[in-house]
Amino acid sequence: MHTWRTELKRLLVLLASTGLVGYLLGDIVFIWFLTLAAYVALNIFQLRRLYRWLTRDHRSNRSDPPESFGLWGDIFDGIYRLQKQERKASEYLENIVNKAQESSAALEMAVIMIDKKDNLDWWNRASEDLLGLKYPGDKSQSITNLIRDPRFAEYFTSENYDQPLQMNAPGDSTRILEFQIALFGEHERLMIVRDITQLHRLELMRKDFVGNVSHELGTPITVIKGYLEAILDNMEGMDVKWQKPMQQMHQQSIRMENIVKDLLLLSSLETKTIAKQQDEVSLHRLLSEIKNDTLHVFEKKQHDFIVDCRQDLQIRGDRGELYSAFSNLASNAAKYTAARGTLIFKAGFSENSFDIEFIDNGIGIEDQHLPRLTERFYRVDVSRSSETGGTGLGLAIVKHILARHDAELIVHSAVGQGSRFICKFPPSRIIEAGAKEVTESTLTENGMSKTEVL
Ligand code: ADP
Repeated sequence: MHTWRTELKRLLVLLASTGLVGYLLGDIVFIWFLTLAAYVALNIFQLRRLYRWLTRDHRSNRSDPPESFGLWGDIFDGIYRLQKQERKASEYLENIVNKAQESSAALEMAVIMIDKKDNLDWWNRASEDLLGLKYPGDKSQSITNLIRDPRFAEYFTSENYDQPLQMNAPGDSTRILEFQIALFGEHERLMIVRDITQLHRLELMRKDFVGNVSHELGTPITVIKGYLEAILDNMEGMDVKWQKPMQQMHQQSIRMENIVKDLLLLSSLETKTIAKQQDEVSLHRLLSEIKNDTLHVFEKKQHDFIVDCRQDLQIRGDRGELYSAFSNLASNAAKYTAARGTLIFKAGFSENSFDIEFIDNGIGIEDQHLPRLTERFYRVDVSRSSETGGTGLGLAIVKHILARHDAELIVHSAVGQGSRFICKFPPSRIIEAGAKEVTESTLTENGMSKTEVL
């Protein structure tokens, strides 16, 4: 602003002084005309310098601005300053991009960017080793043309990337890769691929080890338990001081047997794939059978049992596995509910799923334990669990079985009020033979349809 005023003043002083000269010479208009023509010529000259300077290559530092004074000097300096700032910012960005590219090149995992048309945009060096991508030939090629496995195409187009995909490397069946995709920007994708062959091998070894150890332990435990039972049946002549230890040894051998049984079941769930041919199981019959078995085992506790399920519903799955999962939840409900408590086994459609629920009004579980309940050997209270004879493997088994049936386990619980274990199945697993409702329905205090109370 200051320079602008000075420039105006300078023009006025020039016009005044040349006006005076014109007055003395007797032709003001002609002298002013000459003055303004010289002024315009000077400005055109400066404009030309500016134009020539701007059209030069400004990436090199050699292009300093032309020397000038006054308003033009300020304009040259201002533009030069802006250019310097812009050059600094682009150097900074270039640096970041270079670092990102260098660090991803050093990674052992493949990092691949895919544009919104599903074509390859950019990838690091490891991608060439893991997936055989070639630069520049594969640039802008469709990723599903380069990785032709149908499982990859299904995963890629599903757009549900919560879980990674594991499959053999393209053209190399000895290698196992894990693909994880994330969406970003305008429907672009970032794909990370890891070689998990070694991890997979270790996992197989772990599963085999657990399976073999459990199998090998089975026979000795059965023998020990058998002898202990025989001794307990013939205790008459035995010293009294040995009676209690014998009983405790027997109890512990039963526990060991249960742990081994559960470990064997878990290891077979982990290693065997679920049979393609699935049973169509009557849900009402299955839940009633589980109710009767639980009632029998926990007879002394005199629980109220309610089975709330339509009789015409069938579930598609492995009957043995479903029995095992549901009976684990039912016996937990009975184990952790005091005598005369109420246990409800309920099944029905909810908004997006078919829910099979095991509800009790027992001791409940504190919130902090809920996320870890399905971990192997995780117990809320170790002393309480060993009192009840639990193995700590029940809910891990439930989780595995449900996953094999495309279902998941949700737990709600409140200490002192009870727990609700919900198995959420996709509705497609349920077959409705007809809308035949169970008769004799009465309502319980908590508003639930009470169809069978014992
Ligand atoms: P456990 O054989 O010890 O019962 P589970 O895996 O079946 O092992 O259950 C893990 C833990 O979750 C149990 O130790 C128990 O503390 C808790 N739990 C499971 N079901 C219930 C329930 N219905 N009410 C209260 N606590 C429960």
